[in-house]
Amino acid sequence: MSESDILSFDPHARSLEGKKGVVLGIANRQSIAYGCAAAFRFLGAELALTYLNDRAKPYVEPIAEELEAPIFLPCDVEQEGQLEAVFEAAEQRWGGIDFALHSIAFAPKEDLHGRLLESSSAGFAQAMDISCHSFVRMARLAEPLMNHGGAIFAMSYYGAEKVVPHYNVMGPVKAALECSVRYLAHELGPKDIRVHAISPGPIRTRAASGINEFDELLARAETRAPRHQLVTIKDVGIATAALATPAGHLVTGNTIYIDGGYHVMG
Ligand code: NAD
Repeated sequence: MSESDILSFDPHARSLEGKKGVVLGIANRQSIAYGCAAAFRFLGAELALTYLNDRAKPYVEPIAEELEAPIFLPCDVEQEGQLEAVFEAAEQRWGGIDFALHSIAFAPKEDLHGRLLESSSAGFAQAMDISCHSFVRMARLAEPLMNHGGAIFAMSYYGAEKVVPHYNVMGPVKAALECSVRYLAHELGPKDIRVHAISPGPIRTRAASGINEFDELLARAETRAPRHQLVTIKDVGIATAALATPAGHLVTGNTIYIDGGYHVMG
């Protein structure tokens, strides 16, 4: 083989050195968004982090300090202007961004715990707005800041695709989220902006504590997944961060399962 036959790879293909990104959805150290933020930072990125409100701030602030985030702002996607303010701050500080992660979900308790059949119109709409349409709004704000391409992530779950007892109203909401990922991948692909749905296996977090019989889900995941191992926020974080590197530049529109292979089982 002559020297000209040897493929040359970008030495920074697996790095986020010099990259900037927005991470939405850290509530505490159990949050999947924290695992992702820590991994983005580990690979060299600078971060803009957010907290839901004053009650959540004391739990998220030490994380923002640990990850040396130069931008730390409140962001309740139901509050007019807060999401926009995060992206304005990113533009002012950095001029542009390279990735954005949405790790947010909410459904009113009555709707989450009841059958889909009984879900209220208002509860369904609120779950859809916070857990899905705010992702579309985030992508809209990210687009003009990604002049050199980028990666946008949503956090989904297997209940989008198959019926998972007790996931209830979140099933159709996550299905809409995964479908939105595909349409946004189509719309943003020409700008080298990739869009991904990350689908982790069950992890004990605050959001997960709202799902009835969650322990059963964990037990089933461990027993049935080919890897027979529960996924951690570190596993989700590093796999997600890898997709934000140049190595992932032609991967888009997928639902990427980080679930020990659970989803392939019949
Ligand atoms: P978490 O409770 O740590 O994170 C949920 C986040 O949503 C919190 O930071 C909360 O503040 C935020 N949020 C809720 N309403 C909001 C609003 N109006 N505005 C802004 N933020 C709001 O729990 P998590 O499990 O890390 O959840 C993160 C994402 O991962 C969610 O989309 C969830 O559906 C998804 N997910 C979780 C699991 C799991 O087993 N934990 C599995 C697959 C997917």
